[in-house]
Amino acid sequence: MQEISSTIMERCELLGNVSEEAGALTRPYGSRALHEANEIVSGWMRGAGMTMRQDEIGNLIGHYQGSGDKTLILGSHLDTVRDAGKYDGILGVMIAIACVQRLHDRGERLPFSIEVAAFADEEGLRFGTTFLGSSVYAGEFDEGSRNLRDWDGVTLREAVSAFGGDPDALKPIGRRVGDLLGYCEAHIEQGPVLEERDLPVGIVTAINGQSRVGLVFDGNAGHAGTVPMEGRQDALCAAAEFVLEVERAARAEPGSVATVGEIAARPGASNVIPGRTELSLDVRHPDDEVRERLRDHLKTRAEEIAASRRCDCEWQPGQETPAVSADPDLSALLARAVEDSGMAVHRLPSGAGHDAAQLAGFAPIAMLFVRCKGGISHNPAESVTQEDVGVAVEVMGRFLERVKEGATLP
Ligand SMILES: [Zn+2]
Repeated sequence: MQEISSTIMERCELLGNVSEEAGALTRPYGSRALHEANEIVSGWMRGAGMTMRQDEIGNLIGHYQGSGDKTLILGSHLDTVRDAGKYDGILGVMIAIACVQRLHDRGERLPFSIEVAAFADEEGLRFGTTFLGSSVYAGEFDEGSRNLRDWDGVTLREAVSAFGGDPDALKPIGRRVGDLLGYCEAHIEQGPVLEERDLPVGIVTAINGQSRVGLVFDGNAGHAGTVPMEGRQDALCAAAEFVLEVERAARAEPGSVATVGEIAARPGASNVIPGRTELSLDVRHPDDEVRERLRDHLKTRAEEIAASRRCDCEWQPGQETPAVSADPDLSALLARAVEDSGMAVHRLPSGAGHDAAQLAGFAPIAMLFVRCKGGISHNPAESVTQEDVGVAVEVMGRFLERVKEGATLP
């Protein structure tokens, strides 16, 4: 196992240098760096006994033939954010390849085929829309996205062509869903929970749903020196009270997180009472009903706070993303694999989005989180230990065994 995990660490290191920017890892969709990464990873997939193809958007798909006609998909993504860490996405692809490599080295064929998917765009760095790669793979591609433009004015249509694909063929692949046993993704946790619990891996229960809202508090601007404290309509004080209410309410609702990440006070001068504030709200929870209840509670509280300060409140609903549950049966097999490896099973939701969410409409999904140092991600300081990577490979190997037992049942 040590050899396998050290190969994975070396490969992550090597891919960490395949970048569009010197001295930082930045690998957007369709870039020269992603092309190079695809070339390198293709070689590793072939070396693990897989046949290869690159689909129209540029996802790399390795196929390890099994004896039955069903397929299990393993994977993650190879693109990165700007100035990224070496493991977000990449680690999951490397673990998937290592699992197939172990089978290949033993000359073992499973009663199902394994497809390793290395998605070409999850982060959405170049076109500002996430999951382009997995959306094409899962037949969820939004046709309107073809006209999105990057920072140089290049359209997605042009980028797809330049990357060797046919932009008019980004359609559902018409796969028979019954063929699929599921999709399992290993990914760094991007949070501190596993580290706090001293566990190398955890089982993802759901990918949190998300509500985004814009809020405006309208009060009355006035002279900071002449308007008495009594009777002020200070829009920033209303916003401040609301921000603390968001924190209090989210703490009172187990499993929820809520954040005000942006705030602007107008007119924005040191000697003027703020007449207007604009803020953002982000609410997440693995259960849509709970998230909606919390969101609605915060709307009521925003209106009450505004009224108590004789301000107006404008609530501007934004993006609503439903939660995606992991498949209980497939996740149970993954949990058994964790137990088989002699560890405690810890279940946790994912606060961040993942390719698995795109695949959920297409196949049962399960996710294995791998502990990462300090919960840091999207940052060059992203770090995992070789020991934890070894554990993840072992768990995934045992997971394949468990799937095999299920697949061979009459
Ligand atoms: Zn990722």
